[in-house]
Amino acid sequence: MTNPNRELAYYDAVWASAEVSASEESRIRQILRMVPADVETVLDVGCGDGRVTNRFPGHMDIVALDFSREGLAHVKAPKIMSHTHALPFADNSFDLVLIADVLEHLKPDEFCETLQEIKRVARTYILINSPNREKLSEARAECQTCRNTFHMNLHVRSLSPAWIQKAFADTFAARTVRFSEERWPYQNIIITILKHHLFREYRYFHMAMCPHCGSKLQKRNVGRLALRCLNVLALLNSGIAIARKFIGMKDGSVEFFVLLQRRQLTRSLGPGNSATMQGKVGDCS
Ligand SMILES: [Zn+2]
Repeated sequence: MTNPNRELAYYDAVWASAEVSASEESRIRQILRMVPADVETVLDVGCGDGRVTNRFPGHMDIVALDFSREGLAHVKAPKIMSHTHALPFADNSFDLVLIADVLEHLKPDEFCETLQEIKRVARTYILINSPNREKLSEARAECQTCRNTFHMNLHVRSLSPAWIQKAFADTFAARTVRFSEERWPYQNIIITILKHHLFREYRYFHMAMCPHCGSKLQKRNVGRLALRCLNVLALLNSGIAIARKFIGMKDGSVEFFVLLQRRQLTRSLGPGNSATMQGKVGDCS
């Protein structure tokens, strides 16, 4: 069970002190490279601290939207505090709707409504960026206060470009699909299960906050014997990773980027006149 106020507290804390790492910088550049040249108006849904919004070319009119006040404080463009599943804009309001590193955080109801909303307000393009086929169990953390386990970045779903294309297929088609160069580090699923269940060894992230009780994640002390066993498991995992590389197996890219384009151009219809263009997003559970 998660508490929305605690989730907001987590995002506020993240955006209050967030830094842009090298992989984040690469992600931002890839998003900007995929913006079509004919785009004039942009909505950045779930903009966070505006790390992408603030980098858009000056000739584009961009509006940023997020529910974190701390995040919006860093945004240097027109901004609106709102949830992603209730966009306060008319149909077809923006040439491009960007939703980057957001969908993986959304609960089932919010997720379906958000997909419908971005589809409704996007006139021509939707640009989606998300972790690529993430194995959620590998990033689980355990709260030392209430023993709840949760994804350390509060991700609740794993997505792929194929799923995105299928979900929007009735009105949008993929124009470009790209992947990050950065690859997921190999982690054997059986070793992960052993770490979790035999040694209660989970991931640690200094900003992580338990969505159940609100406690900040604490580092756990591990006994000497458990530490030895964990070192053996880590060595075993490294051995498997090396063997996989040796036989040419590649680990998946960390991020995907999909640029969707509306199948029928609606530019001539203009905002608020899109009744025939709005279909339902397919099964979005
Ligand atoms: Zn807790």
